[in-house]
Amino acid sequence: MAALLRSCGAGSAKAFAIPRISSRALASVKFVPPLRFQSRPRSFCVKATSSEEEAAKAAAAVADTGAPTIFDKIIAKEIPSTIVYEDEKVLAFRDISPQAPVHVLVIPKLRDGLTHLGKAEEKHSEILGWLLYAAKVVAEKEGILDGFRVVINSGPTACQSVYHLHLHVLGGRQMKWPPG
Ligand code: 5GP
Repeated sequence: MAALLRSCGAGSAKAFAIPRISSRALASVKFVPPLRFQSRPRSFCVKATSSEEEAAKAAAAVADTGAPTIFDKIIAKEIPSTIVYEDEKVLAFRDISPQAPVHVLVIPKLRDGLTHLGKAEEKHSEILGWLLYAAKVVAEKEGILDGFRVVINSGPTACQSVYHLHLHVLGGRQMKWPPG
C-alpha cells in the first residue's frame, strides 16, 4: 500500500489514510437516491451561464426571508435606474442586462409578500392584474405592441435572481420558442 501511495506522489501514507467508520455511523448514513428518482427537480438552469446559476442559487437562499432586495433601492431612488413608466402601484425600468433591444422590468412598489409568483394569494389578484396591464402600457410606450414577451421567473429552478416579483417585458427582435 505504502509503495502504491509513493508511486502516486503521496508524501506519506498518512495523507491517504482512510478513517475507520463504525457500523453505527454507517447505519446513520442517509441514502440519497439518484437524481432521476428524486421527487423534486434539482435547480438546473440549462440556458443560463454559470454566474447566472450561482446568482439564482445565492438569491434563493434568502428568497423567503423577506430581506430587502436591490429593487427596494431602485423604488426608493437610492440607486439610479432608467424609468420607463411609473404610477402609484408599479415601477417599470430598463433591465441592467438587457436580453433584447427592449427589456423592461415591471415591479410592484409594495412587495406585500410577493417575493415570487409562487407566493401569490387571492389578495394579490388586483396588483397581479395591474402589473400585466402596466406591461402592456410599457410595450405601447416602447413601440413593440405588435409583438412582445412577458416573462416571470419564479423560484431557483426558473433562475430567479431577485426576490421581489417582477415581469420582464421583452421585445424589439424576433423571439424564439420554446424559451430556454
Ligand atoms: P430574474 O433573474 O430574477 O428573473 O430577473 C432579475 C433581473 O434584474 C435580471 O434580468 C437583472 O439583469 C436585473 N437586475 C438586477 N440588478 C439590477 C439593477 O441593479 N438594476 C437594474 N436595472 N436591473 C437589475
